[in-house]
Amino acid sequence: MSHPSPRNPPLRVGIVGGGLAGLSTAAHLLLTAPGDFDVEVLEAAPFAGGQCASWRDARGRPLETGIHLAFPWYHNLAALASAIGHPLPLRETDGNYYVCNGATGRIDTLLAGKSVLKTLGGLATFPGLTPGERWQLARLIGRILRMDDAAAEAHDGATVAEFLAAQGASPALARQLGLAAVTIQGLRPEEAGATSFLKFLRTMYGSTGRFDTAFFGAPLGDALVAPLVAFIRARGGRVQLGQPVAGIEAGADGPAVRRPDGTRRPFDHLVAAVPGHALPALLPAACRDQPPFAALGGLRETPIVTLTLWYDRKVFADGNVYISNRDRRHGPLFDAVADKADHWRDWPGLNHPGSILQVLVDAADDVAGLADEVLVARAVADLERFFPGCRGVRPADATVLRLTGTYCGTRPGYWSRVPRTPGSGLPGLWLAGDYTTGPYHYGMESAVRSGKEVANRLLALRGRPEHPVLRPRYLPFVRA
Ligand SMILES: Cc1cc2nc3c(=O)[nH]c(=O)nc-3n(C[C@H](O)[C@H](O)[C@H](O)COP(=O)(O)OP(=O)(O)OC[C@H]3O[C@@H](n4cnc5c(N)ncnc54)[C@H](O)[C@@H]3O)c2cc1C
Repeated sequence: MSHPSPRNPPLRVGIVGGGLAGLSTAAHLLLTAPGDFDVEVLEAAPFAGGQCASWRDARGRPLETGIHLAFPWYHNLAALASAIGHPLPLRETDGNYYVCNGATGRIDTLLAGKSVLKTLGGLATFPGLTPGERWQLARLIGRILRMDDAAAEAHDGATVAEFLAAQGASPALARQLGLAAVTIQGLRPEEAGATSFLKFLRTMYGSTGRFDTAFFGAPLGDALVAPLVAFIRARGGRVQLGQPVAGIEAGADGPAVRRPDGTRRPFDHLVAAVPGHALPALLPAACRDQPPFAALGGLRETPIVTLTLWYDRKVFADGNVYISNRDRRHGPLFDAVADKADHWRDWPGLNHPGSILQVLVDAADDVAGLADEVLVARAVADLERFFPGCRGVRPADATVLRLTGTYCGTRPGYWSRVPRTPGSGLPGLWLAGDYTTGPYHYGMESAVRSGKEVANRLLALRGRPEHPVLRPRYLPFVRA
């Protein structure tokens, strides 16, 4: 007579942080082997999603942390959304970059996109540059595309401004390229690390995808976060909101979390999915000085201010994301602005008759302390300057969100500080988060990929197949 083999009890997996990295870890575990894992996500905020969260205000209107774009190489993000049955509602842009030029008051168009020819054309017609500077730009991009990851990381000690100066970039070229640092890294070129800048440019110019740079056709909470939470719960996982973790313990007897009331919850495995710069403070003092945690103490956030301006009528002609070359002398205040009403127009229940302008102010350390009315007045003045539809029209309502302690600045030294493996070196403690992974600059894709990598390690412990980790599709001449 045969007996069924005794089934291993499910592994208890605690996940601290319900941002994209934490939710990705949980979803990837439960996609493959729900019976093998008892998954619990502990999220401090009253909603999941972290930096990708959106919520409703007192009047039921959606608010987001700020404009999010999906780039063509976001294969792991797209695959996860499809796997849980909610393909991303992406609205493809034309791939171009529209730059509100503070010095001239005009909007410059940088041609870019899926077609390599279009992007090359963009380099050849880059606004504000002489033919000689355009040639210099093309050669510089060529050099960046021939850098592999290690070569890009050799510049980790330099700022974007120092890197461009060392490359002999003219002041005009350095000014134009430096705007990528503000919009992508949330830092000014003299503060932003060169390596993230290089990683972003080589992936942007050197890879292809099924879609062009895209924005989301719904608030991120609706498009991505709520479906992930629903999926995790439907597969037996728990997502606990408003449950801050006061401390993480990782001793020989396994990991545990400490709650603010002093109670201790042990797990078989614990995934720290909080921002890297916030992790050391959660650990016992003895661990903080050990690698990889000691280096994380050197990471610092960069503050962001997001204004949402509600208009009763349409003030923007399209849904493009407009960025700016925000320099301190010429303004404008904002780094990016887009009409979310345009992006969300096909999402059920969100058909706002006017515009909903989301105005993102990166590297906001110098303005975050201004009063709400002052920020709104400055943003409105900027919008009037660049967008004819905004002239003489006041927003009916405005909200101001100050994001501090959240978005990590990729300053010089960032890439030598962040760990490249999900293992923490402590038994049963794993690391997930946008800072732990990615051949490219961090962001949503890195967060999803980091969760997938942690899940793969835990799946392997149970002899389960791993999820394929998808890489950017580099063009043949790019050193991948
Ligand atoms: C305004 C803005 C615009 C952005 N634009 C883009 C973009 O265009 N494209 C792109 O790819 N990326 C963009 N990003 C970055 C992207 O949102 C992040 O890279 C990604 O969401 C990070 O996910 P994460 O899970 O690693 O971290 P987080 O989202 O920071 O999640 C960490 C979670 O941990 C929770 N937590 C922290 N401490 C504790 C604790 N003690 N106990 C319990 N929970 C805790 C936090 O509340 C949070 O929910 C943007 C970010 C911001 C803020």
